[in-house]
Amino acid sequence: MKQPVLTIVVPCYNEEEVLPTTIDSLHKLLMIMIAEEQISSESNLLFVDDGSKDLTWSIIHKGSLQGNHIRGLKLSRNVGHQNALLAGLFTAKDTSDCVLSIDADLQDDIHVIPSFVDMFKKGHDIVYGVRKKRDCDTFFKRSTAEFFYRLMNKMGVNLVYNHADFRLMSKRALQELEKFEEVNMFLRGIVPLIGYKSTSVFYDRKERLAGETKYPLKKMLYFAFDGITSFSVTPIRFVLITGLVSFFVSLLFGVYFISLKWIGETETGWTSLITSIWLIGGLQLIGIGLIGEYIGKIYKESKRRPKFIVEIDSKTFTQPLPLTN
Ligand code: UDP
Ligand code: MG
Repeated sequence: MKQPVLTIVVPCYNEEEVLPTTIDSLHKLLMIMIAEEQISSESNLLFVDDGSKDLTWSIIHKGSLQGNHIRGLKLSRNVGHQNALLAGLFTAKDTSDCVLSIDADLQDDIHVIPSFVDMFKKGHDIVYGVRKKRDCDTFFKRSTAEFFYRLMNKMGVNLVYNHADFRLMSKRALQELEKFEEVNMFLRGIVPLIGYKSTSVFYDRKERLAGETKYPLKKMLYFAFDGITSFSVTPIRFVLITGLVSFFVSLLFGVYFISLKWIGETETGWTSLITSIWLIGGLQLIGIGLIGEYIGKIYKESKRRPKFIVEIDSKTFTQPLPLTN
């Protein structure tokens, strides 16, 4: 029986500290899987350099010269984790039966990769890597992540709990993913929308092997906010409902104050007046801000800019891709 061609895609941004180990461990694993005939000998590792400013590209380039199972893509600039991942996935899909994505920092257990392939062989198009527990993450990261998953689920976005971007996708799932044309791709929310038979593989998440997180708090908040506003209009609806409620409440208050005046007990009124001005003003600003956020999204989407530009492909050394999708 012919074994599937697997490509492991690794997005890398300033990962010089950990990358030599990552390349080495993944390469060893790939060789073992090929030797044990779990996957085809045409299987590959694909490292995507997301516009790093350190030695990341030289390390990838050196790796690609060593073995013919290592390929590198250098993007023209830093486009962010999600887009770097897409660059890898879309490049790999043409030459693979299935593609697995994993972070460069070896936080995800590479030893469960054979289980992903087993699930693929059993007919699953998408296999999600799910963290059993998150002991290694800080309490803050754990609780904010938990809050984010819950919030997204409440708003009707189907996220696989405790799954990040450690996942395997079949060729046909990737072909369908390519049809999602939005510029702002939040993969964890989009992949479940593809459908097909899918399953999860559980593993323990470890500490980052070396280097620092590329997701500081500010980037994480943007990421979460983007995830929410890309997938749901619930926040805007919430503002509308709050607006309606406060409108009717203020009507009731109006009636109450007018009747007080008739009875003759007039209020000095300053406190209630100033409080309501601030309250309503605040609500309005939140509302306008949220609407602006959505309009900004539409603006970005309408430009249809490319999500990434490949500058160098270690395999073919092609020229940069044209600027359109
Ligand atoms: N990454 C990337 N581009 C970026 C930021 C991060 O390709 O602009 C990569 C990074 O090299 C790593 C993965 O995305 O392989 C996840 O980043 P990190 O491990 O820093 O995130 P965390 O695990 O702390 O959430
Ligand atoms: Mg990490």
